[in-house]
Amino acid sequence: MANKIRVTVWNEYRHEKSEESIRAIYPKGIHGCVKDFLDTHDDLEVRIAALDDPDQGLPDDVLNNTDVLMWWGHMAHGDVDDALVQRIKKRVYDDGMGFIAMHSAHMSKPFREIVGTSGKLLWSDDQHELLWNVMPAHPITAGIPEHVDLGIEEMYGEPFMIPQPDELLFISWFEHGYVFRSGCTFYRGRGKVFYFQPGHEACRSFYNEYVQKILYNGIKWAAPTAFGDAMHNCDYRKNIV
Ligand code: ZN
Repeated sequence: MANKIRVTVWNEYRHEKSEESIRAIYPKGIHGCVKDFLDTHDDLEVRIAALDDPDQGLPDDVLNNTDVLMWWGHMAHGDVDDALVQRIKKRVYDDGMGFIAMHSAHMSKPFREIVGTSGKLLWSDDQHELLWNVMPAHPITAGIPEHVDLGIEEMYGEPFMIPQPDELLFISWFEHGYVFRSGCTFYRGRGKVFYFQPGHEACRSFYNEYVQKILYNGIKWAAPTAFGDAMHNCDYRKNIV
């Protein structure tokens, strides 16, 4: 199929290597698990990248040939190179690359740099989570029921220090009374950004069929759209009296 969407799934990939209990859940790493379910879609071309790869997994020839970058990080946000963060931001703002921040990527350097706030939130132990679909007309929520029972997930709660989202797609309920804006979109420059909360390394959300569908829909939505010619090709001043 022509014009496949080129997806790069970036993972810090540290928990899976250092903790047996996490490796048991995601033996190929979280990025390997995400790639496996995305590979069932023949309109995607998926590759994986990790923090400890050369150039932190994103040399120019990879980043510049990525339509949608997915990001999972947690324990090593500070190790991500600041120059790489600026290259990612530029790809989103100027070239329209999509960026999908998964779970603890709310505190990642690229997410914070792209949306412009700290990304801090209320946090607690693992609890039963219901993910409520509050914008059923959006392409990312297509085919998703009114709520998804995720079982046990890590509690993320409000206040969540993000800009007011351009679109709020999901709100989560946690059994001890917390709520969280668990699916949000942001438009930045020419690019689109989707933040999605499920995906703690010790839980199994990436095996949930609806989580998988939401992420696939998110890629389709975040992929760059075709742009018209830039204004400098048109001498608009001639029309000003
Ligand atoms: Zn977590």
